[in-house]
Amino acid sequence: MTKILRKLSLLRYQAQMRENYTLTRLYVEADLSQGQVIDLSKDQAHYLGGVLRMTTGGSLRIFNGRDGEWEAQLTDISRKSGQMKVTRLLREPYACPDIWLCFAPVRKHRNAFILEKATELGVARFQPVTTQHTQYGKLRLDKMQSQIIEAAEQTERLDLPELKDPVTLEQLLGDWPEGRTLIFADEVGDAKPALETLKEISSSCALLIGPEGGFTPQERDLLREQNFVIPVTLGPRILRADTAALSLLTLWQSVQGDWG
Ligand code: SAM
Repeated sequence: MTKILRKLSLLRYQAQMRENYTLTRLYVEADLSQGQVIDLSKDQAHYLGGVLRMTTGGSLRIFNGRDGEWEAQLTDISRKSGQMKVTRLLREPYACPDIWLCFAPVRKHRNAFILEKATELGVARFQPVTTQHTQYGKLRLDKMQSQIIEAAEQTERLDLPELKDPVTLEQLLGDWPEGRTLIFADEVGDAKPALETLKEISSSCALLIGPEGGFTPQERDLLREQNFVIPVTLGPRILRADTAALSLLTLWQSVQGDWG
């Protein structure tokens, strides 16, 4: 029954999205309800008033990741400040499927690429993991959060992926939640093909991608010792971490996610 309901809500979500596609989309933090007045932040006023040159009375779409998508009307706008009034609900809340991406941070622009593309591919949670060979452990989480928001605005998402604080591989495994499978992309190549494995899984999932230098033999042993970890191969070639992350996420979405 839930599969049919999910399908219906997805069809409604897509139909409503097409209806208002041309209106600018903006992420806001405030709770959203009919008639509410929201003050624009300086950045939001600059974007709407300065960059888009919107004027009073102009309409846009707003979402906060929790309450669906609403139409709002600018009641006041300048380059530095502004206000808008929430006028009507456009799309009911819709959460992407529950898939986590655990990844060893790589160099900045590639990290940004992973965040943007995985947000488009519907990831629900980003979990940075520092491993022995991780060279970029120092993360600007505020910058990463804005990259995620920008991608969510563009990709018409109604929810926001969660960005967790970085943990070590040992912490990740030590605190692993009951009932969730960790699919470990193992480049050494003696694992089962990812697609075959994903077709056999019925539990909630997380994906794990290593750093540019790959996992150490000790880390691979530690991972393979866990009863909730399943190693998979992504073919005979060595993929860059960002390529591996997005390939595995694409496979998961098409087998287990909401691409059906
Ligand atoms: N160890 C390799 C090396 O040092 O050249 C590279 C690691 S690769 C750049 C980064 C991560 O992507 C790996 O740790 C693994 O998680 C994933 N990956 C890359 N190619 C893969 C493959 N063919 N199968 C499974 N995972 C792969």
